[in-house]
Amino acid sequence: MEIEFIPVGGYGEVGKNMGLLRVGDEAVILDMGLFIPKAVSFEEEGGHRERASTLELIKYGMIPDDRVIEKYKQEVKAIVLSHAHLDHIAATQYLAPHYPQAPVITTPFSMEVLKTTMSDDNIKIPNQLKPLNLNHPLKISKNIEIELINMPHSTPQSSVVAVHTPKGTVLYGNDFKLDESPTLGQKGNVKRLKQLGKGNVIAAIVDALYAPIHSKTPSEAIAKSLLKNVMLGSENNHNALIATTFGSHLARLKSMIEFSRKLDRKVVFLGRSMKKYIDAGQKIGIINFAGTEVLGYSNMVKRKVKKLSGKSLDKYTIICTGGQGESKAVLTKMVSGALEFKFQKEDSVIFSNKVIPTEPNITSRKKLEEKLEAKKVRIFKDVHSSGHMAREDIRDFIKMTNPSIVIPAQGDHKMFSAFSELAENMGYKKNKNVFTPKDGEKLKIS
Ligand SMILES: [Zn+2]
Repeated sequence: MEIEFIPVGGYGEVGKNMGLLRVGDEAVILDMGLFIPKAVSFEEEGGHRERASTLELIKYGMIPDDRVIEKYKQEVKAIVLSHAHLDHIAATQYLAPHYPQAPVITTPFSMEVLKTTMSDDNIKIPNQLKPLNLNHPLKISKNIEIELINMPHSTPQSSVVAVHTPKGTVLYGNDFKLDESPTLGQKGNVKRLKQLGKGNVIAAIVDALYAPIHSKTPSEAIAKSLLKNVMLGSENNHNALIATTFGSHLARLKSMIEFSRKLDRKVVFLGRSMKKYIDAGQKIGIINFAGTEVLGYSNMVKRKVKKLSGKSLDKYTIICTGGQGESKAVLTKMVSGALEFKFQKEDSVIFSNKVIPTEPNITSRKKLEEKLEAKKVRIFKDVHSSGHMAREDIRDFIKMTNPSIVIPAQGDHKMFSAFSELAENMGYKKNKNVFTPKDGEKLKIS
């Protein structure tokens, strides 16, 4: 029985993650993600997703080009989604129908997010939707068993996917961190990773986004502490307090609520992605944001912002989308005037995120900051800790799982080179047991 991996998306760019793992004549798809910058530019150029064909979206570069695995279509036994970020799940609605026999398997939280993503776009898929709890192995075919191993990231219920085969285990760790003190959910199941490492891990496919950074990513507890310092330790009693982060980062949102309560400020969440992820979390009971207001639809957001503008803003914390300076996000519109909001001198804006290090994010975020500066607003940047492993975490992950082969995922040439360099330092040999395949290049694992 041969085991092969075919990268489909995310191997050469940051986004549209997707891969196919073939185990003999059975196969499993790992992630089906969107390339977010292209999704944004598609809409800005007047494109309508609902009217475009899947092939048009593929050619535009918005979703992975799954034509490279066309001949293995019938082999696919499951589509497994590692976590709830859109660059890992949001192409499912377009591509899963190519494999109607395959159930979509992911955690209950990610499944809720996926369902909302599909209903927002008014798309239904023929595939069975099968939520799978973390750390509970599931046999999906004669030769394949799936296990979603709980690992912290910047959205709840993220996982390293273990694909158990008769020849050993393949680990797909695409987006997670090693965190001793997460602030929401359980600690990572490092014990299980180590246990597998003592057995036979034949390959590990690993998030290489921050492989060039010589560091260990700080815990979410550090980000919480940074946030506390800014929210409780700044003189902002009489001004608006506006914070932005990823809507998917429920742990961070929870910390923001905690500190707002201490300030006697009511939390108002604004933005579609805020609502989507908060609703999913509340529905499955992993958070309880009672006492806050959550508004997603643009007309409701518009009315609320207008109502808040100029009022006694020392009574509220506005938590909204727009940390990347995205043109359609709430903060960007508040600054541009598309939403009626009058900033006062020394209002505070907290960026509890980092700019995703690709264009057009870098430029649009810079523009947003310049406009805020012109309004004499106080800006607090980088109140954040990443959800991705840095180089020394990657080293630890490889040490604890001891894979025969390592493959970087989610990155460009620079990130993959850094990953490869690390692996070579650890004793792996280039093109012998550390490979950096590009989208569409088939790789024999065993
Ligand atoms: Zn992610």
